[in-house]
Amino acid sequence: ALTRDALEAFWMPFTANRQFKDQPRLLARAEGMHYWTPDGRKVLDGCAGLWCVNAGHGRKEITAAVAEQMATLDYAPTFQMGHPAGFELANRLIKLTPGDLNHVFFTNSGSESVDTALKIAIAYHRVKGEASRQRLIGREKGYHGVGFGGISVGGLSNNRKYFGAMLPGVDHLRHTLDIEHNAFTRGVPEWGAHLADDLERLVALHDASTIAAVIVEPMAGSAGVILPPKGYLQKLRAICDKHGILLIFDEVITGFGRLGTAFGAQYFDVMPDIITTAKGLTNGAIPMGAVFVRKQIYDAFMKGPDGIEFFHGYTYSAHPAACAAGLATQEIYEREGLLTRGADLAKAWEDAVHSLRSAPNVIDIRNLGLVAGIELQPRAGAVGARGYEALVKCFEKGILIRTTGDTIALSPPLIISTAQIDELITRLGEVLKTIA
Ligand code: PMP
Repeated sequence: ALTRDALEAFWMPFTANRQFKDQPRLLARAEGMHYWTPDGRKVLDGCAGLWCVNAGHGRKEITAAVAEQMATLDYAPTFQMGHPAGFELANRLIKLTPGDLNHVFFTNSGSESVDTALKIAIAYHRVKGEASRQRLIGREKGYHGVGFGGISVGGLSNNRKYFGAMLPGVDHLRHTLDIEHNAFTRGVPEWGAHLADDLERLVALHDASTIAAVIVEPMAGSAGVILPPKGYLQKLRAICDKHGILLIFDEVITGFGRLGTAFGAQYFDVMPDIITTAKGLTNGAIPMGAVFVRKQIYDAFMKGPDGIEFFHGYTYSAHPAACAAGLATQEIYEREGLLTRGADLAKAWEDAVHSLRSAPNVIDIRNLGLVAGIELQPRAGAVGARGYEALVKCFEKGILIRTTGDTIALSPPLIISTAQIDELITRLGEVLKTIA
């Protein structure tokens, strides 16, 4: 058994786990839709790990592919040399990406994908002779990882305010989705497309010729499942086009089937210039991210300004083990039709999650594909306390949920059965009844 001292050495810096000082939660094993704790308790995974284990846990095909790759070619310095699995994975992925986003940069995480995308956007303008376009626009409540690029464009001020200077020239779109207009809407809210007009405010403020890119999550996940109002993303696209600004979709969560399409771009039918991904790319098995761009942008990044090549890439870009995991994952997604399963289950999922409307303290429910956000009324003077109580009690009751403040986020593996949807939501409903 782990001693208290042993646990002290590795305390994941996430709020929830930090609060379990005397009785940390440990997961020892996982298979399919479930985790098991070290003492053998079975826990239904309502979050696909952390929005990533889309094909369910313990997929033997992935394990075997990674083992074989490691035994064959454990590492390749992709700065200088390619390797077959890297090319194979890139070519497989660009069949899934929308439009002409058919060039890939591999990274090792969502945060690295975001940094890469921001650099590509600025570099692209520079090569085109518009070096003044260096500003980046994010969105209030946007989450783009924990690198300095990601926290700068990210819109959760708590994530950035203690870390000194951020990237200069960054600004944020307002994204106030008034709950009174949208409470308990099923799917995307009808109200609020005009919120995208806020980009015109920033263009007027900063001058379009200084703005390189706008980065948004098609559906904001980590801030508590915030859905873009109908027409919002289209409008952002139109304003970006008008002013020569690149539009980046951060699809670290929405990529690989979460909404019932391969990417959120396809779900919302809006074509970004750059897509960032990670998580579901390898089913969470081996860290990996990827950034997708069209040839024109890729070539500019490769070419560099004035014949001087840009320098970018990671020691572990296209790591053979990650590529093998990625290939095995994509094989499973295709064979089992998982990238569209979220669409097949969307109605059953929506009905199930909206059955919690009458549960105590529930003030809003948002859903899309196989995602839901269930917002609880915060306790006076104790924001997040109700959400945390729900997390603890759910875990005791054998379901893993995720909470952001008082919003519960659900994003189960895409292999979930309708019986398991019922089980997840029924147990969550029972827990909510016990929370004052
Ligand atoms: N972007 C988005 C939209 C995310 O949801 C996340 C992770 N939740 C990230 C970036 C960062 O990814 P990572 O934790 O792999 O760095």
